[in-house]
Amino acid sequence: AKRKPQGQIVTYKPIMRAELQRRLMIEAELGKAIDQCGVIPYYQPQFDLKTGEISALEALARWHHPDLGWVSPAEFIPVAESSGDIVPLGRLILETACTEVQLVSDSLPVSVNLSVSQIFNDDVCGMVRECLARTGLPAHRLKLEVTESVFMTDIDHVYETLQTLSDFGVEISLDDFGTGYSALSYLSRFKWSELKIDRSFVNQAFKNDLTLEIIAMMLALARKMDAGVVVEGVETIEQRDLFASLGCEFGQGYLFGGPMSIEDIALLFFDTEAA
Ligand code: C2E
Ligand code: CA
Ligand code: CA
Ligand code: CA
Repeated sequence: AKRKPQGQIVTYKPIMRAELQRRLMIEAELGKAIDQCGVIPYYQPQFDLKTGEISALEALARWHHPDLGWVSPAEFIPVAESSGDIVPLGRLILETACTEVQLVSDSLPVSVNLSVSQIFNDDVCGMVRECLARTGLPAHRLKLEVTESVFMTDIDHVYETLQTLSDFGVEISLDDFGTGYSALSYLSRFKWSELKIDRSFVNQAFKNDLTLEIIAMMLALARKMDAGVVVEGVETIEQRDLFASLGCEFGQGYLFGGPMSIEDIALLFFDTEAA
């Protein structure tokens, strides 16, 4: 590095080094954590906007490392995707979620996020089928969430995989709807169970009339497709009421509750202890 602009050298370089060190550390530690089941799902509840009843749980991976502290999935999922650890990580989260949801309820569905690299690097269909058999969770209680980014490559393989999973009876949910790959053709090539409206639309809904039109269009599309709709990132009563009045069925967000342990789900929503 050059000497001259002193401020830059002093501040910029150590930050880069710290970031790089953190990433290397995450990469080195994540595999071990997965082996020891140190990555666990937390669960964020979803609610029926009409009745206010809990309607599903979304499993979100959580990792606490003795030195690194809590590492966000926004940080370790991309690392896991590039290192290949996403395959055992995905299996661990899926298996734990299918087991734990049955501790709190005998009807509530659970959603698990599926990453693109699981679809391409793993026998994901075999894995899901075995997991359902091992845990005894009925297939219709499992929802697998994929984002539009799965359609970036080898579309036929993606449809085939989603169709096989769907044939098991598993529900397939389109996550972060409206933010990714913008061709709408994939909506018609597969029978989606559910669309999840990304939270960026929630923020914009009150600021911009066109956004409201887009949301109304998404809801109309979902109705045509006979798919459920979940709005994500609901933080205020105004947002909840707006989406309810537009006919959106389900909501998820900090207004209702953030991701929490299965013990807290049991206590808060089922008035029992997860045994
Ligand atoms: P996502 O699937 O879109 O999950 C929703 C994210 O929004 C979660 O972040 C959740 O904590 C956060 N969130 C929920 N309600 C609100 C709200 O009202 N306001 C705001 N601002 N945020 C809210 P989280 O848990 O940090 O997960 C981030 C992303 O990491 C997820 O986004 C998902 O793409 C990925 N991820 C998490 N767990 C897994 C996993 O087990 N497997 C895979 N493949 N990806 C995962
Ligand atoms: Ca999700
Ligand atoms: Ca989402
Ligand atoms: Ca997201």
